[in-house]
Amino acid sequence: MAESKTVHSPMLTYVSMLSLLTLCPPFVILLWYTLVHADGSVALTWEYLKQNGVEGFRSIWPKPSAVAWKIIACFAAFEAILQLALPGQRVEGPISPTGNRPVYKANGLAAYAVTLITYLSLWWFGIFNPAIVYDHLGEIFSALIMGSFVFCIFLYIKGHLAPSSSDSGSSGNILIDFYWGMELYPRIGKSFDIKVFTNCRFGMMSWAVLALTYCIKQYEVNGRVSDSMLVNTALMVVYVTKFFLWEAGYWNTMDIAHDRAGFYICWGCLVWVPSVYTSPGLYLVNHPVNLGTQLALFILAAGILCIYVNYDCDRQRQEFRKTNGKCLIWGKAPSKITAMYTTSNGETKSSLLLTSGWWGLSRHFHYVPEILAAFSWTVPALFNHFLPYFYVVFLTILLFDRAKRDDDRCLSKYQKYWKQYCEKVPYRIIPGIY
Ligand code: NDP
Repeated sequence: MAESKTVHSPMLTYVSMLSLLTLCPPFVILLWYTLVHADGSVALTWEYLKQNGVEGFRSIWPKPSAVAWKIIACFAAFEAILQLALPGQRVEGPISPTGNRPVYKANGLAAYAVTLITYLSLWWFGIFNPAIVYDHLGEIFSALIMGSFVFCIFLYIKGHLAPSSSDSGSSGNILIDFYWGMELYPRIGKSFDIKVFTNCRFGMMSWAVLALTYCIKQYEVNGRVSDSMLVNTALMVVYVTKFFLWEAGYWNTMDIAHDRAGFYICWGCLVWVPSVYTSPGLYLVNHPVNLGTQLALFILAAGILCIYVNYDCDRQRQEFRKTNGKCLIWGKAPSKITAMYTTSNGETKSSLLLTSGWWGLSRHFHYVPEILAAFSWTVPALFNHFLPYFYVVFLTILLFDRAKRDDDRCLSKYQKYWKQYCEKVPYRIIPGIY
């Protein structure tokens, strides 16, 4: 089974798995309710829950409506068709632990462009009003919570009965198998990659689509869009555009190459990304803060810079690996470690570890601009309420945990070579501090 399972103690692993399985769904609903119906105030929602108890909570949990299912089905079907039908270059993923090399069709940027153009055209020509999505958002999140849970059960059964490749297996524990997943590269047929669909074409795509939806909704309500909303939408759209520009690189990262398809990744991308990642924009719909041109432009420029640095970190690593270290890093030949490792079949292989450029500042420096970028599209909400900042706080915890998981995984993979890297680049995330 995948190595990441034992990074934390078994007790902590079980407690965190059970907590996330049971607490994430109600949290998504409470977040939506507070941002849309309780003025973004945690205190108001708390007061409501104190007075009305469990029954009150049940009454704010929207039932998945027919409109919600239709919106989700149309979006999912549209994205699945684009994933299958649009042309794209053939791209090979990294060699898997059992020695397979997954092959993809890199058509993400085209799918992204077609999706946004279609969505905006439907609005512009009066065929579909995105404000409807906002008006039914609670029902949509509720349907996503349920539908994605059923989807994860399907992944669990598929992993047992019909795995797509040898990168699959059971830990012998039903909870771990469901939560962390069974298959690394599940596919439907030969070419429909499930993780590309859930993580990229549904999750990341919905982020940009919802960012535009919130902006349009504010325009429909107020007849204008505030500068805070413009900065928030622009930065989120730039971030997601960067993601699709680099989508083939994403197929080399932990999410795809190490984390199996289960509740953690798939439910997360199908529900948590559309609801939590977009939440600063959702807050702004009813809070049209005016920043003034200078401050708005400053935040916009700072946010774009963070997104660029984050992109450049990922690009540097990708180019370094693709050219086998024969590239320039910040104008110089890269400094590197050739790290040997053994695959689960006993074969000896090697990987290059970059120890200069961004990857020489700290071992996960790319998380710093990632967190700052999230802060920059949240700060237009200013500081009246904490809730818009939930995503930044969550992301910081996620990335600090991820850096530890990745370090532990790399240590067990590369052993003495990873120790060499840690000696050369001693800080995990923040240079000079941590
Ligand atoms: P990456 O997968 O990009 O990097 C970690 C992997 O890179 C390691 O597992 C190792 O894999 C390899 N590696 C480690 N050190 C080096 C080195 N010095 N030189 C070359 N290769 C190295 O990390 P993430 O998946 O965490 O991040 C990818 C992007 O996604 C980032 O931009 C991040 O900010 C973003 N992200 C965003 C999240 C969000 O929720 N918004 C969540 C997580 C990530 P190998 O086995 O191949 O050696």
